[in-house]
Amino acid sequence: MIGCLAIARNGSDWLAVMDDLSAQELCESIKDGRITSVEATEAVFERTEKLDAVIGAYISTDRERALARAAEIDRRIAAGGQMGPLGGVPIAVKDNMCTAWGATTCASRMLENFHSPYNATVVEKLLAADAVIVGKTNMDEFAMGSSTENSGLKRTVNPWDTSRVPGGSSGGSAAAVAAGLCYAALGSDTGGSIRQPASFCGVVGLKPTYGRVSRYGLVAFGSSLDQIGPLTRTVGDAALMMNVIAGHDPADSTSVGEAMAPVRDYLANLDQPVEGLRIGIVPRLNAGADESVRKAVDAALEVYEGAGAELVEIEMPHSEYAIAAYYVIATAEASSNLARYDGVHYGYRSSKADDYIEVYTKSRAEAFGKEVKRRIMLGTYALSSGYYDAYYLKALKVRNLIRSDFTRAFQDCDCIMMPVAPTTAFKIGEKTDDPLKMYLSDVYTIAANLAGIPGISIPCGFDGNNLPIGLQILGPTFTEDKLLCIARMYEKETDWHTRRPRIVGGVD
Ligand code: GLN
Repeated sequence: MIGCLAIARNGSDWLAVMDDLSAQELCESIKDGRITSVEATEAVFERTEKLDAVIGAYISTDRERALARAAEIDRRIAAGGQMGPLGGVPIAVKDNMCTAWGATTCASRMLENFHSPYNATVVEKLLAADAVIVGKTNMDEFAMGSSTENSGLKRTVNPWDTSRVPGGSSGGSAAAVAAGLCYAALGSDTGGSIRQPASFCGVVGLKPTYGRVSRYGLVAFGSSLDQIGPLTRTVGDAALMMNVIAGHDPADSTSVGEAMAPVRDYLANLDQPVEGLRIGIVPRLNAGADESVRKAVDAALEVYEGAGAELVEIEMPHSEYAIAAYYVIATAEASSNLARYDGVHYGYRSSKADDYIEVYTKSRAEAFGKEVKRRIMLGTYALSSGYYDAYYLKALKVRNLIRSDFTRAFQDCDCIMMPVAPTTAFKIGEKTDDPLKMYLSDVYTIAANLAGIPGISIPCGFDGNNLPIGLQILGPTFTEDKLLCIARMYEKETDWHTRRPRIVGGVD
């Protein structure tokens, strides 16, 4: 039996946890018959059994179901049948996306036993692309947080240093990809929750334009900000995942139609370098990051300059108000979205209630965590009569100003580059007592959600503690194809994305 599995960054008994295939390469290998989907899926579960006791990336896995599906895919391949673009590849899904099997918990006691009757659209799309879904990943409760420490169910650690956080809120998805516990994962990003954990764990994370990917079946946090996107080992895999999940969905009225913005083939021109690239930079903002982060981002900019890009200094005059506006808007939307958890319609019901009012109050008091309660209170306050104009409406106005900052900036540049986060992965517990400090970890990511624009995080170096650093690239709405090309330019010139955390395993 595998008992105490020690993971350390120094030690003799290194276990290389990841083989080096990308999801794209694995898919090709399965199609060519060099490896079966069952073998790949078995390998992922074997690693997960060994390592996830320490990493804690998954809330649930379903080995039997995944293997049955992998076997079915293998049979289809053997019979010469058609295969989808993710044919046989083991994929993980953040546990705020509904699956018609198992539980969809949002890492909350409130939904610990919630079984969705239907699949989220993205889950349907993964299945239609012949992916093998191996499990549901840990997250901050209801996606509220930047470190996954707000999970009501378990702890996830950073595979690069297990005394540190994986980032959040999609920390489980990022850790699973980084530790080789799946080949790609889905996360959701309301204020940075794909890009920031991607950066902390040294993987690629893409937040698409608001409306590009259906939110149907994504448990809502801040409905005007939430967006689903991929966390992957390579830029090519992010493009592959986008090809699968992007597109209009009649079940989500905020998803954007083909007529307004046609879905591109994100893989088709991926290797085409972007000619005459003008990169916007905001020196005033970058100056706020730790030195190691600043240096890595500056070095990345030099790589682009070497490839012929031009750097353009731009102004983002309202960026300093982004966090304040976000924490009014996101909490306001959350307070409304979370009103449905009343002990009657969904999820947990207190057994201590004496009347129906108590069913409501006690169920919520017992099942929601501290951060969720804080946000419900903040949001309810901001929406209440007398304060609505002063806080909520004001925040909406600031949101508009931030949106116009980007529109103006993109007249002078094709994309904007900056750090993903001011620091690398911080220590577990370091910021849990100070919510404001925690909120500041999103200082570079939040504006993109307020403006609805796409952003990608790609590995661009390591700090002195061997912790990954991310470069963020932001672009105008619906330019995911271009962002991916720009990211790919860098990936071709560097090898950061090929580095893997080395995880020590010991068997008891
Ligand atoms: N960290 C931010 C928050 O706590 C963003 C979370 C997210 O993107 N889901 O709200």
